[in-house]
Amino acid sequence: MLDEKATTQALAVMATKFPKVGSSLVADSDFHFLLAVILSAQTTDAAVNRVTPALFAAYPQPENLMQAQPIEVEKYISTLGLYHNKARYLVACARDLVNNFASQVPRNHRDLQSLAGVGRKTADVVLAERFHIPALAVDTHVERVSKRLAMVATDASVLQTEKVLMTKIPQEEWIHAHHLFITWGRQVCTARNPACASCPLLAMCQEGKRRMNEVNV
Ligand code: SF4
Repeated sequence: MLDEKATTQALAVMATKFPKVGSSLVADSDFHFLLAVILSAQTTDAAVNRVTPALFAAYPQPENLMQAQPIEVEKYISTLGLYHNKARYLVACARDLVNNFASQVPRNHRDLQSLAGVGRKTADVVLAERFHIPALAVDTHVERVSKRLAMVATDASVLQTEKVLMTKIPQEEWIHAHHLFITWGRQVCTARNPACASCPLLAMCQEGKRRMNEVNV
């Protein structure tokens, strides 16, 4: 299992290869950023950014969106996966914001997760990206890469993965680490075909060595 020091070293290697990482979701307000993060589930930031200008123009405030029918919202987001559910979540989330939080996006986990369509990962991303509150959102890439590198046990739950990574990575690095894992997972350590042969982390990665041995048998 990689300890704190080795985990920091691995992240430094990732940062050398990808010096510029970060969220590319575009939004002009806390409310619209929250909507964008909800929409980004199982799709790319680029796909979300293509649909949000028209959506945001149609619904500038939670009060506008809460009065919409989901079917009206669907026409703005129909190019995204799960758009039926996402349209329902957006309307319900706007209603929760108006009814429970004076139309303001809350700045803590508990209140964020009380909103329709907002789970722990979405709350983490909003806290980190919009309010610069340290959080380490665990998505499929963060989970896969951290487990392959043995920073986290392979049978750890998403919540356990988040907790373990938070103990191994300094708090001021959580947000940056989240982006490094995602970029590494998309471009190097992909789900189906990780580039182990050319990976600069191979020397410290048991999973990579195992895969290379299989190839060489
Ligand atoms: Fe992923 Fe392979 Fe690199 Fe390990 S060596 S981090 S499994 S790409």
